[in-house]
Formats: sequence, C-alpha cells, structure tokens
Amino acid sequence: MKAVVKQKRGDGFVDLAEAPEPQCAEGEMLVRVGYAGICGSDIMMLHDRFPSYNPPVIMGHEFAGTVESLGSGVSGFSVGDRVACETHAYVCGECGYCRSGLYNLCPDRKGFGYGVDGAFARFVSVRKGIVHHLPDEIQDREAAVLEPLSVAVNALTRNSRIIAGESVLVIGPGPIGLLCLQLGRLGGSAVTVVGTEHSRVRLSAASKMGAESVMTDTELKEELAAGRLSDSFDSVVITTGEPSSFETALKAARRNGRVVHIGESTDRASFQFSLLERKNLTVQGSFSHNWPVWEAAISLVKEGRVDLLSLVTHEVGISDWKEAFRLTESREGMKVLIRP
Ligand SMILES: [Zn+2]
Ligand SMILES: [Zn+2]
Repeated sequence: MKAVVKQKRGDGFVDLAEAPEPQCAEGEMLVRVGYAGICGSDIMMLHDRFPSYNPPVIMGHEFAGTVESLGSGVSGFSVGDRVACETHAYVCGECGYCRSGLYNLCPDRKGFGYGVDGAFARFVSVRKGIVHHLPDEIQDREAAVLEPLSVAVNALTRNSRIIAGESVLVIGPGPIGLLCLQLGRLGGSAVTVVGTEHSRVRLSAASKMGAESVMTDTELKEELAAGRLSDSFDSVVITTGEPSSFETALKAARRNGRVVHIGESTDRASFQFSLLERKNLTVQGSFSHNWPVWEAAISLVKEGRVDLLSLVTHEVGISDWKEAFRLTESREGMKVLIRP
C-alpha cells in the first residue's frame, strides 16, 4: 500500500513509499482509513521539530474509517463498522495512569504516526481499546476531526472547566483554537481569539464562528503594553507552540484566573514568573484525551452542537500529500484531510 513515511531524522525525509499492509495481532483490528487529518505536529515532524518519533514510520494520527478485518479475540465489532480511533496505539496497561483510565499519560505510551505506523495509508492496525463506534449522524469527514475536538474537550471540560458568563481568550486560531472557541461558547463564555498576521483568514473564520472579538498578536501585545487588556480574561487557552505566548497569557489573564496550555513545541519560553504569584494564577497543561473524552466529543458532534465540517477546507488524495502538507503549513487550509 502507498503510505506517507518519515524515513529518518532531519529536515524533510518524508516521501510516498510502498509499505506492507499491516497484520492485526490478537486484540487488534484492521481499519481501512477513510480520511486522515494533517496536524500541526505532522509539519513539526516533517521539519524535525517534533520531540520524539521513531523513523521510519508511517505518519498520521487523526483518522476514521471502517473495520476491514478482526484479529483474534475481538468482539463487539463487525467488518464494515464505521469507527474512529484514539491516537494511543500502545500503552502498558499496568501503570497507575493506565489503571486509573489516564492511559494518555502512560510513560510507555506510543502514538500513531510517531512511535507506531499511522494513518496516512490505506490500512492501520488498531487495538480494540481505543476504537469508537460512529453513529450514523456523523459523516466520514467529520469523524476524521474528532481527534482534535477531543484534545479541546479534554482541555476545556476536564483539565480546566469553562464557566458560564466568564471571558476566555484563545491564543492560536488553528483547528484546535477554533474548537476551543466553539466549546467556550457552548459553555456560556464570551471568547476572544488572537492569531498572527499570517492568520487573517483563520481569524475571520473565528469571527464567523461567533468570537466576541478577534485580533492579531501584535494588536494584543500593544493593548497589554498600554495596560488595556491586562487582567481581562478569566481563562486563557494557549493552542500554539510560540514561546512568547506564555507571558502574553499570564498578562492577559485576570487575577485568580487560569491559563490552559495545549500548544506543542520544542522551544523554551522565558517569562516573568512573578506574574504567577502576584496574580494568583493557575496554570494547567492538557495532553491528548482518553475514552470518556472521546465519547463526549462524539456526542457533541452527533447532537450537532459542534461544527467540524466548517473546519475542513481541503480533501486531497494521498499521492498529492505534498500539496496537503503545503496547504497546512502555509495556513491556506484549516483542516486538510488526506484520502488514502
Ligand atoms: Zn493532532
Ligand atoms: Zn501505562
């Protein structure tokens, strides 16, 4: 089968290669990928800016499809079932995190597309524990965006909580930022979205999705320097890996406010740490998602309360993977889906 493979470490070294079809071991099923979404982390991996990965590896971790075949010992699924899969290809099952359901934090976790062959290919083998049935109400293209939605749900309804009537600032108008905007609004908050000068198109998408206001990061920094927007937001959600956004968040947060960090980066941030103490802030990281978060995300889409389709701007065949990556990296596309 054709697969988009990161061949070795270094900038580049991604190509469309011929890979053997995966075999499913006991407890696994073979999933025929319908659509797989490109994530910012795929671009980081392309340029060797992603912290840990195991080349050569088939990329892609946001995906949904249908069950092609079942390994031994798999019940509750039939060939042809429509499914979406979490990213946790391997977890140990024995550690305290696994035993308490927080297997996304398992120290031995390996994710699809980094540690284990992923979904930019026709087939991927998936262990049963991370496969979710899809209701008829959810279209195939939406299903491929359930993973970033689950990231946002975990950040805003589990690791931190949206409170009705509060004000939220979302830094980064990418797919996860816009999902945080939607969840914030659902939770009854007024949401402001900020992005770089390059993200004008994304900021206007945020306006259409009901952002209270949108601005560029330069505008926000000017406002903060003039003392106008400092101490303004009950929650600040950082969905970018841009290091300076952390201090911006600390400044924009209200006293006793919360800063939630979802952005990924290998860069180091420097910031005025006395802001944490002086403003009595809470900083919360949020990594990935787990089973109950996914089930909540599926319900939100099934009931039509979150709009995933407007995030999908492009669908590209796997042989045009370069174009798909370009559309993502240039931010011309919002969520770009690969059809393997
Ligand atoms: Zn992702
Ligand atoms: Zn574990």
